[in-house]
Amino acid sequence: MNNKNNSLEKMASFCKRRGFAFPSSEIYGGLAAIYDYGHYGTLLKNNIRDAWWKHMVQLREDVYGLDSAIFMHPETWVASGHVEGFDDPRVDCQKCHQRMRADHILESFGIKADKAPLDFINKELEKLKKKKKIKCVNCGSTEITPAKQFSLMIKSNLGSPTDELSEENVVYLRPETCGGIYLEYKNMLDTVHPKLPFGIAQIGKAFRNEIVARQFIFRTREFEQMEMQYFLHPKEMKKNYEMWKDIRFKWYLNYGIPKNRLRWHKHEVLSHYASMAYDIEFEFSSLQGFKEIEGVHARGDWDLSQHGKYSGVDFTYTDEKTGEKFIPHIMETSAGLNRLFLMFIDSAYTEENVGGEKRVVLKLHKKLSPIKIAIFPLLRKKKELVNVGQKIHEEIRKKWMCEFDTTGSIGKRYRRQDEIGTPYCITVDFQTLDDNSVTVRERDTMKQERVKIENLEDYFLKKL
Ligand code: ATP
Repeated sequence: MNNKNNSLEKMASFCKRRGFAFPSSEIYGGLAAIYDYGHYGTLLKNNIRDAWWKHMVQLREDVYGLDSAIFMHPETWVASGHVEGFDDPRVDCQKCHQRMRADHILESFGIKADKAPLDFINKELEKLKKKKKIKCVNCGSTEITPAKQFSLMIKSNLGSPTDELSEENVVYLRPETCGGIYLEYKNMLDTVHPKLPFGIAQIGKAFRNEIVARQFIFRTREFEQMEMQYFLHPKEMKKNYEMWKDIRFKWYLNYGIPKNRLRWHKHEVLSHYASMAYDIEFEFSSLQGFKEIEGVHARGDWDLSQHGKYSGVDFTYTDEKTGEKFIPHIMETSAGLNRLFLMFIDSAYTEENVGGEKRVVLKLHKKLSPIKIAIFPLLRKKKELVNVGQKIHEEIRKKWMCEFDTTGSIGKRYRRQDEIGTPYCITVDFQTLDDNSVTVRERDTMKQERVKIENLEDYFLKKL
């Protein structure tokens, strides 16, 4: 058994069974491409988020944090070009009305169609249709409509009767978090007084009316982004771009993603404002190939210039030393928290054969594991053992997320913790009553060692 047959169905059912992620609103029949996160899922997601924040903000002297609102003035998205053209090309099956991404269909035939014009997409589709090569993914029909643009923006209304969607009070659920960073750029400059180059980082929800909604948490209509916009002098772009590419790639290696499952993808067709764009791709076993997890983009002065033009605010930066005036250029790193969640599960989920039995173990990096330490009294009925276990639990839970478990055999309890990726389990047994030592068992090696209760905190401080 190996790690390479983690199908999407298997990952989704594992996540549901062990309380990582559930399809949203299941009691009402579900809501496509929206997910809720259970106890372990919330803990894992928070740990990924914190690991990102630590490296992007806490350990840096040039990046500052922001938490901007989801709703922004609607002009924000006119200025950014989203209202006009944040679209994906879509085709429909004429028989069962299944929606499909036209660019993805072409890409499955090796035709580069990322951000390609609609004319090009339709020409290529026609050629394939004539050969009856395009089939509906749902019913297999070859009757497919021509491609149309489909806006990914989700609209709402503020301050007007909810039964009438008025154009006057329209607001958009932000399709990316960076919009808020541009709007707060000046306030950040005036309150933190950073010198260029500097970054603003933010983590938050984003919403897109995605056409295809069948990829578990890889592509959802409500998701979280972790974005950092780095403001700089245009001449400094190349150097900083390389620096951030390196930092971001190493972040994944640092948290246990194997190097051979990561690669760079260079965008051949660039958005009109971008001068360089690379994605980091991870080889998902569950999606059978390399897929984007993060974008690193050089955006020029597009964002600040556009918001300057639409708002009338002057975003000119004056270099204190040289007196030079210019609009700062931006390079961004943009990762999807939920996509990284799937990546970490996909990479960590392992089935092993131990003594003729299947062991499912989530080999997560220890810093990301939802539960760090589980404590088991050997026998539930033996009060002395339970009492000692409870005391240990009370102490160490002050420092780490722990779980106390008295149910089932020790073997079963180990397996339950292996499945959710708990790196250490403590067993309180009869020897404990004699010499105040417990067994500590490590997840990946399954090796056990005796540790004195009084030394547990030091022991875990070194290990975790
Ligand atoms: P894709 O080509 O997969 O649709 P994108 O190029 O539109 O992604 P960006 O706009 O660059 O993505 O967003 C940055 C990151 O946000 C992506 O790398 C991804 O991790 C995440 N992301 C984007 N859309 C979604 C989504 N619908 N669900 C989950 N994560 C998403």
